[in-house]
Amino acid sequence: MSSPAATYDLGKLHGGLRLPSNKMESTATPLQTIPVPDQLILPIAQHVGEPAHPIVGIGEKVLKGQLLAESYGSISAPIHAPSSGTVVAIEPWPVSRRQGDKAPCIIIECDGEDRALPAAEETVPFNTIEPDSLLRKILQGGIVGLGGAVFPTGQKLMQAATMPLEYLILNGVECEPYISCDDILMREQAAEVLGGAQILMHALGLNKCYVVIESDKPEAISAIGESMATLDDDRITLKQVPTIYPSGGEDQLVQLVTNREVPTGGLPTDVGCVVQNVGTCAAIWRWIVEGEPLISRVTTVTGPGLTTPMNITARIGTTVADVIAFAGGYTEHAKQLIIGGPLCGKSVTTDRVPLVKATNCILVLDETAGTAEERPCIRCGECALVCPIQLLPQQLFWYACSDNEARLRSYGLTDCIECGCCDLVCPSHIPLTASFRNAKARIQELADEKARAERARRRFESRNERLEIEKLARESELAQQKEDARNAGPAAIEEILKRQREKQDQDRES
Ligand code: SF4
Ligand code: SF4
Repeated sequence: MSSPAATYDLGKLHGGLRLPSNKMESTATPLQTIPVPDQLILPIAQHVGEPAHPIVGIGEKVLKGQLLAESYGSISAPIHAPSSGTVVAIEPWPVSRRQGDKAPCIIIECDGEDRALPAAEETVPFNTIEPDSLLRKILQGGIVGLGGAVFPTGQKLMQAATMPLEYLILNGVECEPYISCDDILMREQAAEVLGGAQILMHALGLNKCYVVIESDKPEAISAIGESMATLDDDRITLKQVPTIYPSGGEDQLVQLVTNREVPTGGLPTDVGCVVQNVGTCAAIWRWIVEGEPLISRVTTVTGPGLTTPMNITARIGTTVADVIAFAGGYTEHAKQLIIGGPLCGKSVTTDRVPLVKATNCILVLDETAGTAEERPCIRCGECALVCPIQLLPQQLFWYACSDNEARLRSYGLTDCIECGCCDLVCPSHIPLTASFRNAKARIQELADEKARAERARRRFESRNERLEIEKLARESELAQQKEDARNAGPAAIEEILKRQREKQDQDRES
């Protein structure tokens, strides 16, 4: 069967860079599956929002797919057991969120049997489920945005369902160098990706879906095209886009394929679009059709400091050390370990950190990744030319150095997507993106502190209000008793006085 022709897109994107892809090495071999390790380390905060709350105890035996920690608060996601075994600890463990961070993790000693929890209910065709029920079901699967954003998918879709929508956009644009997990996933699991798209269209009542892939991924384009031909669903269209970093950002992608501009501080839903990563779609399909929550993911393990670059499917909670060992280990020139890509990833100093839902890439660089000396800004303006958000990075850097929050806000710091384009072109090697990341964290900390102080102030005022009400009630009761005494005879007065004396005695004792 021939694959449908893809349209070549379209749209305008400001700035961005054409970068060497460095993806050939990791896509030279098919997707590999790592065996279940002896131990799984599961952070309870693997998503944007509140950490999940553990509901298992130490020593408890668990089965694959069993709920370990339930979502908590309005934005959160549950965590499920990636294999069967025993919970041996719930304790802080190094994670890759921030350098040197430890975070609470549920640690499972695997029993090697990989026994799954029996299905709680019979699987029914997704299109027989009411859209609202489908959205609620997606919430329970622990699914988060696997493109790196890790926003809980159920909550994102619930929010989207309240808006007038037109397009579902499947993000197969994997523009950061070295990362190829979505490319391999589309090549090998195209039917699952498109199945997930159909589930989403049913849940959101949509009938237009774009699958967007960069033109330098012919194998993925062909696999998705063939799967579309088999599916014969004319609501789904394949779109190719040029390979320009960072066209895979949600707002950039919307602009690229629909020519609609997401307003500053807004969401794609403001312009009628919902964007989902292709890996997230496949995860939705596995949960709704096969009943398997998000307990594994495809990750790229690559870089010049690694013996055998490849893409792997690994259980969430497998340590990076186990993944590196599976990929043949470090070369003797390995120098730097990064979780994520070279531009948006985070450098870590230990491979004891676990692979989590957000881990799209494990990158090992060698000594050729030199560090250039930082020099003063020469006001060349290159950084502004490449910024996809049309910010002025040199100005932002100036205000970040002086901690000028008001100026940082007015110059659009919160819109910065931390893509790193400005760093790449800066002839003075100024760490612009790191300074923006730190400034955002500082502003967030101040906002959190302000919110905490506001909550404390409200608690204090409520307490004072309550005490005042109690005081007024007591005064009113006393006044009533005096009034009763004036109107009563001697025996009644004696009775009232007696009651008052008893009450005073009780108050003294308490
Ligand atoms: S690219 Fe670097 S040197 Fe040039 S204006 Fe921007 S910060 Fe300054
Ligand atoms: S990191 Fe921020 S300021 Fe720099 S180019 Fe990207 S979006 Fe613009």
